[in-house]
Amino acid sequence: MNDLIEIRSLHPNDLEALMRDLGQPRYRTKQVFQWLGRGVASFDEMSDLPKTLREQLAGRCVLSLPEVVRKQESRDGTIKYLFALRDGNSIETVLMRYEYGDSICLSTQAGCRMGCIFCASFDPEKSRNLSAGEILEQLLAAQRDSGRTVSHVVLMGTGEPLDNYDNVLTFLRLLTHPDGLNLSMRHVSLSTCGLVPRIRELAKLRLQLTLSVSLHAPTNEIRDRLLPVNKKYPIEVLLPACRDYFKETGRRISFEYALIDGVNDSMDCADKLAVLLRGTPVHVNLIPLNAVEHSTLRPSSKEPVRRFQNRLISRNINATVRRSLGGTFPLPAASFGGRETRGRANMRAWGMTHPGVVRESNEDTYTIWVSDDGRRGFFAVCDGMGGAQAGEIASQLAVEAFCAGMEPLKAGAFTMRTAQKQIQQAADDANKSIFTSAKEVTDRKGMGTTMVAMACNCFSVTVGNIGDSRAYLADENGLRQLTEDHSLVSEMIRRGELTQEQALRHPSRNVITRALGVEDSVPCDLFTLETKQGDVLLLCSDGLTGDVSVPEIYYEAYQRGEPETACTRLIELANTRGGHDNITVVLVVF
Ligand code: SF4
Repeated sequence: MNDLIEIRSLHPNDLEALMRDLGQPRYRTKQVFQWLGRGVASFDEMSDLPKTLREQLAGRCVLSLPEVVRKQESRDGTIKYLFALRDGNSIETVLMRYEYGDSICLSTQAGCRMGCIFCASFDPEKSRNLSAGEILEQLLAAQRDSGRTVSHVVLMGTGEPLDNYDNVLTFLRLLTHPDGLNLSMRHVSLSTCGLVPRIRELAKLRLQLTLSVSLHAPTNEIRDRLLPVNKKYPIEVLLPACRDYFKETGRRISFEYALIDGVNDSMDCADKLAVLLRGTPVHVNLIPLNAVEHSTLRPSSKEPVRRFQNRLISRNINATVRRSLGGTFPLPAASFGGRETRGRANMRAWGMTHPGVVRESNEDTYTIWVSDDGRRGFFAVCDGMGGAQAGEIASQLAVEAFCAGMEPLKAGAFTMRTAQKQIQQAADDANKSIFTSAKEVTDRKGMGTTMVAMACNCFSVTVGNIGDSRAYLADENGLRQLTEDHSLVSEMIRRGELTQEQALRHPSRNVITRALGVEDSVPCDLFTLETKQGDVLLLCSDGLTGDVSVPEIYYEAYQRGEPETACTRLIELANTRGGHDNITVVLVVF
């Protein structure tokens, strides 16, 4: 067996030499290479080859597909495979379904020797390089098993791809060969913990793949503790290599940053990271760490993750949060098990507003728009202030400015990359319009409004917030407030002067510290998140949260399972609890 040629690792040039050796005409090379790319598991499946050639090939070469040892499938189409290799080693592969197609996360080594302390794949004893064919066969076996076609590849599974440089490069050539799978290099992402000489070598090839660097810390002190490779290639060596990579290839680098509770998730770390990356076109991918058995490291909770992201964004660093999933077998290492579970977007939304039982008029306003195919949408809730008429006008002006700002999204000409800018611009326009109107008309003095707004494209959501109207995410883990209130009592809670309970009854509970229209410019909190099928987003004014508890909201919005009538029920509930304020609810179901 050891002397057999592993045919799937052969580039067409080498295959041609083999065919020559076997006395075959040149056209056989293409024929065989095409069969190999189709994922056959034996030479017998190459039905248009003469039997004698199939026998010759079987005598000289080895051809098989890895065996599926374990398979876990989630309802959104993510499949996690554990494959057995020919030598008994096992590797993990994850097939994911996205809006843009099926993506696969491949392993490049069996066990990894890099020793990142948060990683379940570290196993120097079992570590060995996978051949180009073995890397490719994960994809072929997953396609064959699932009946799906992979359009994107990420090298983020077990192993450090640049530690297996030659085989990975051969794999890339096989993957992108026009006679084979013919995948675009732009659809390939390669993740490294930072092997600087290899990054520099790769840069010279000017491949159009995405390089993803596991940074995870803004200082050597922290990074040394997390990734032993940092002792050899510290940050001051790694980052210039990344900048040069960008200069050579024109491809923006993606930095992975796993947020670990109390280790690298402070605002100081965010500030240092922003300084470190300033001036380089980068994207920071924040990943809540997956807990690893026997490790004391814990993932940061959701609030610090959001704050960290906001801080980077406010420092002009492009940052998104990748959703983290659990898993019962160790997942691809460099991804920390973090993969979204998503299916086809089919967004639906409902909204309702009510004056409540105490107020005579309704100063709340909301807007909902969802495209016919359920893939794009925008939503806003505004809670006006400054008196019945003025508050109503202010919230209406804000919603109008927001809708005008979202017109490009309606036309499909709006990218989520610019969504934050677009929402901030809409908030600026709304602010200007309310501020001017309040100055010009005497009885509108002091008017203003809160605004919580969202733009959604498939499962990507951008949220903007000013004031104390709120956005929540409800999923299988419960109800989580996404936005931070800009109110006096929230400040006091943050300073430890009040509890949540006390805040509900505090005489200043309605004092807002940030609102549209009350100053000549007002910053908007902006952040993005990824949702998945079945998630519910809730936007509401404080009329709801003032009277209805979090468990009740969660039950009505998510657990009860009747989203069509949930808005009505939530408003009824708020009114039965006193209906002290105007109440507005918008529910978005994915
Ligand atoms: S994170 Fe990647 S490089 Fe680090 S030990 Fe795990 S597989 Fe190896």
